[in-house]
Amino acid sequence: MIGGGVVGLSATVELLRRGTEAVCYERDTPMAERSAGDSRVFRLAHAYPDMVELAARSRRLYAGWGERAGVPLIDDVGTVVGGEAAGGWADAMAAAGAAHEIVEPGSPLLRLPGPVTGPALLDPSGGVIRVDRVRAFLVAAAGAVRQVTAETIEETPTGVRVVAGTATDDFDAALICAGAGTPDLAAAVGVDVPPALEHHVRFSFPLRPQAPPSPQCLITLGGPGDPGTYQHRAAPGTWAVGADVAPAAVAWDLGREAAERASLAVVTDYVARELPGVEPRAVDRLYCTHNPDLSDGLQFLRRGRVLVVHGENLFKFAPLLGEILAQACIDGSTPADAGPNRH
Ligand SMILES: Cc1cc2nc3c(=O)[nH]c(=O)nc-3n(C[C@H](O)[C@H](O)[C@H](O)COP(=O)(O)OP(=O)(O)OC[C@H]3O[C@@H](n4cnc5c(N)ncnc54)[C@H](O)[C@@H]3O)c2cc1C
Repeated sequence: MIGGGVVGLSATVELLRRGTEAVCYERDTPMAERSAGDSRVFRLAHAYPDMVELAARSRRLYAGWGERAGVPLIDDVGTVVGGEAAGGWADAMAAAGAAHEIVEPGSPLLRLPGPVTGPALLDPSGGVIRVDRVRAFLVAAAGAVRQVTAETIEETPTGVRVVAGTATDDFDAALICAGAGTPDLAAAVGVDVPPALEHHVRFSFPLRPQAPPSPQCLITLGGPGDPGTYQHRAAPGTWAVGADVAPAAVAWDLGREAAERASLAVVTDYVARELPGVEPRAVDRLYCTHNPDLSDGLQFLRRGRVLVVHGENLFKFAPLLGEILAQACIDGSTPADAGPNRH
């Protein structure tokens, strides 16, 4: 496993559970890049029925992880999807046979720090992924992660060779799951992964006392006055908001600082206008790199004994990816892509 984010750790833990030896290389501390922070949105709701089905499988597997961890890993608050495109997402949930409901603005079923502007989709299986708990569970279950940068990966006649630091090790198979490091590592074994990056920042704001005590997560799909956002309860008393900021304002070449400034302005303006239950005063932020050419979806590529996985919003699929990737590492198969960016 090259990469000790949530994907690499999930695959490592599953391989170990099946009695297969596995080594996870991580250049930093585990889950310190795209998997950093304390919380994420879980939802069955997606634009595509296959993604809804995969999320439903992942939800069940999260429950199993929670039993092993001795603590629930998802806060069962539900997720609301607002915006004109929400009807299409409801259709995808219906096609996948997933429980859902369309609710009108003002419905007593809504528990949000601000109003929705039109009919919204209620996904009762959604909730807040407790990243802090997932990290503790995975790090304990994965055992020792090799804290070193994997420099090269190459196929040999009998397997795969990984050079990391001063060590060279041979394996039967390798999985590249290195997040922002994936395109370079994959290119070295002849696999083409979209390399584009942009900056993304999620900000946290204090919840006002009048906000509902156990708010649902909220995804807004964009429209007049709405840049497209994801929102959820984060650290106690805070509400996290990330927005789809105009590409020109978060382009890679602008640098992180300028992108963070532009993102803060967009998100704070949105909070001030749309969320009366939230103070428009950011108290925390979580930065990550993001690939603008990808959206919700899972992509798998294989070259011989090396499998590459990439995609966006992978946290909600972590236990499912663990199963799928472990199986593929063992039997040499290539899992099927899902979502909009199929190869
Ligand atoms: C602010 C924010 C909000 C998000 N919201 C959601 C959400 O609500 N729901 C959701 O499902 N997802 C969400 N995501 C996305 C989700 O968190 C990521 O898709 C997921 O964590 C990616 O995990 P990963 O293991 O692929 O990548 P990473 O966590 O980045 O792990 C890759 C690891 O590989 C390591 N690495 C790279 N190169 C090398 C090398 N050569 N040698 C050794 N190690 C290497 C890196 O150090 C890194 O730790 C969000 C992400 C962020 C940052």
